[in-house]
Amino acid sequence: MTGEENLVQVLDAQMARAAQRVTRPLFGLPLQQLTAAVAELGQKPYRARQLAQALYRDWVENLADVTTWPKKLQIDAESVGFEVNLPRIAQVFTSVDGTERYLISVSGGQTVETVWMPDGDGGVPDEDDEPTMRPPQIYRRATICVSSQIGCAVNCQFCLTAKLGIERNLTAGEIAGQVVAVLKRQGIKVGRDRINLVFMGMGEPFLNYDAFMDAVRLLVTEVHIPESRMTVSTSGILPGIERFGMEAIRPKLALSLNASNNEVRESVMPITRKWPIEQLLAAIKAMPRRPRDRVTFEYVLLGGVNDRIEHADEVIQLLRRANLPGYVNLIVWNPGPGIAYRQPEPEDVDRFQKRLIAGGVATFIRRPRGRDIYAACGQLKKTAGSAA
Ligand code: SF4
Repeated sequence: MTGEENLVQVLDAQMARAAQRVTRPLFGLPLQQLTAAVAELGQKPYRARQLAQALYRDWVENLADVTTWPKKLQIDAESVGFEVNLPRIAQVFTSVDGTERYLISVSGGQTVETVWMPDGDGGVPDEDDEPTMRPPQIYRRATICVSSQIGCAVNCQFCLTAKLGIERNLTAGEIAGQVVAVLKRQGIKVGRDRINLVFMGMGEPFLNYDAFMDAVRLLVTEVHIPESRMTVSTSGILPGIERFGMEAIRPKLALSLNASNNEVRESVMPITRKWPIEQLLAAIKAMPRRPRDRVTFEYVLLGGVNDRIEHADEVIQLLRRANLPGYVNLIVWNPGPGIAYRQPEPEDVDRFQKRLIAGGVATFIRRPRGRDIYAACGQLKKTAGSAA
């Protein structure tokens, strides 16, 4: 056997041993489960609190960086397979408008997409969104768009992610980990810098309900991002909306409406056949309302499909009947390869917004962000090759 062949055999054996080793990710576990993990190592609960601080506030990437733990404990934890497993940013695409799109590595060699918008997206303003003179190094309204699944099963006809189909659900650690990976890259201090989270990336959060809500609780209780700074968008998964209404901690809700009647919505979002608009609005209305709760209605404008003045009038009627406090966010459709819609004309967008406002519906136009890097709404798909 040559030296080279021998070396290959040794490497193969090492790889086989590494593959057999069961790893146990810590990032993503709530305090209760971290307490159980340290108990396994014969440790008291205060070690779990130290670990939670290291994972969710200090954002360590290795157990060796948990400086409040003695070296022996770090080694013991590693020896039984525990590892941090914070998702890592594998690739960055930067837009001319400052938006960054990331491919973030998760387990199984897969990647997921997350977007950083340093200046928000111009959609529904926050309650306290008054213009202020802030020091320039502090972002006024940065937003992170987070994915909940790899791919998506919902099949909205205007969306590039739909083309992937569903590959798998993300875990709570992979959902919250996207946020922490981006905060870390951007040098954000939670509590000092204002950060909004929108769960509007790849996937339908309510089809991965438990992991999504676990991630939300983790982000609120351990990372300390208030739920009032989070919005989840659903395509209209009725059982998910009903469960969501009962949660003690929950983000704001956005419904991806995208049409003024069921017929048009069915052609754009086939899921409407299962849960028509009226049922969705009734479920949202039945949710226990918190002070200052507002529902966002996302409306992707598709040229000639749902952007006519009669559609605007139907939206007004629909929302009047629903009698829900809320806003409409108009999103000019972002083109993607292989999708046969056209963008609405600028004057049609303007006319649509003016008509809704005249009809008493608060309406904002969401600025497209990162279109040149396929980071804009509905464009998330692993387009590494094409964007590069
Ligand atoms: S718009 Fe959202 S729910 Fe619809 S296919 Fe795309 S990712 Fe899925």
